[in-house]
Amino acid sequence: MPFWSRKKEEKIIQCSVCEWNPDGGKHWSCSCGYLWNTFETKGKCPKCKTQWEDTRCISCGQSTPHQDWYKTKEDLARIEKNGNPILRAKKKSLESRLINYGIRNSRVSYLPYLDHTNEKFQTAFDAGCRMIILYAVSYAVHNLEKRPQIIAWLKAENIWEKVSENEKDFFNNPSPAEDLLMDLSWQIEAALTLGWCLKKVEQLPSLEIEHNEKEIAAFQNKLPAIGDNLTLFLSNMEYRDKNEIYEENLLNELVTTYFRNLLFNGKEDETQINRFISFERHKTLNWLRTFMESEDWDEIDTST
Ligand SMILES: [Zn+2]
Ligand SMILES: [Zn+2]
Repeated sequence: MPFWSRKKEEKIIQCSVCEWNPDGGKHWSCSCGYLWNTFETKGKCPKCKTQWEDTRCISCGQSTPHQDWYKTKEDLARIEKNGNPILRAKKKSLESRLINYGIRNSRVSYLPYLDHTNEKFQTAFDAGCRMIILYAVSYAVHNLEKRPQIIAWLKAENIWEKVSENEKDFFNNPSPAEDLLMDLSWQIEAALTLGWCLKKVEQLPSLEIEHNEKEIAAFQNKLPAIGDNLTLFLSNMEYRDKNEIYEENLLNELVTTYFRNLLFNGKEDETQINRFISFERHKTLNWLRTFMESEDWDEIDTST
């Protein structure tokens, strides 16, 4: 075939480490201070003409040779076949959810991060107890005068010992502060998250919503009323597919990271995510994954 009729091969631009595809943004700054999209000029600064050999990835932060970013279709097919196919599918699923929420520059570069085969959960019974306690707390926030009865109920049902120290303080505090009540009112989100894990909620509401009263009302209908006997209910707890739970945890972990990074890089929030809801879910699911470490509900680690 003569060279002039050879079709120019289409190249896809992609990071070799995490597979991020540049979004056309001006993410790269030259030592001269110029800010531009380096893929428009093959790594050459339009202002001072410096040719940059390496290009830093906005998603994973790794620098790789600029030339390596240009992939053929064959390269991509080969990459798809690399690595554990189950973990690769998890990577794609998680990343597409982030992209749908408007978090476009977050990729998983380390596949084992998605592997949870050897992890253990809290027992379903303990998760059920926690769900009830969180529900009781959020109920008490709006019905302060009922707290003595709620304490008596949790004691009679033998789950008072699972109430955290902060929660006990709240139940016993004659006049809890306004900001404490505000804080505790978020506990219904944590209860709802556990309810989803324990199949009491079909679907977790989108992270973009402001109010989920409808979902919370449906959830309440699946719970025993405050004061009811809990033995039978708590002996029938079971988890939904743990892969779904892990994915939800990682999703909210990466959302938390996104908001944390916004604090440092000063960029605009490009999502409609309610960060408080996401943070509650992240915290709750981290707690769920601390089997045998007996992590205190009051001190859950959410560093990422
Ligand atoms: Zn990367
Ligand atoms: Zn320059």
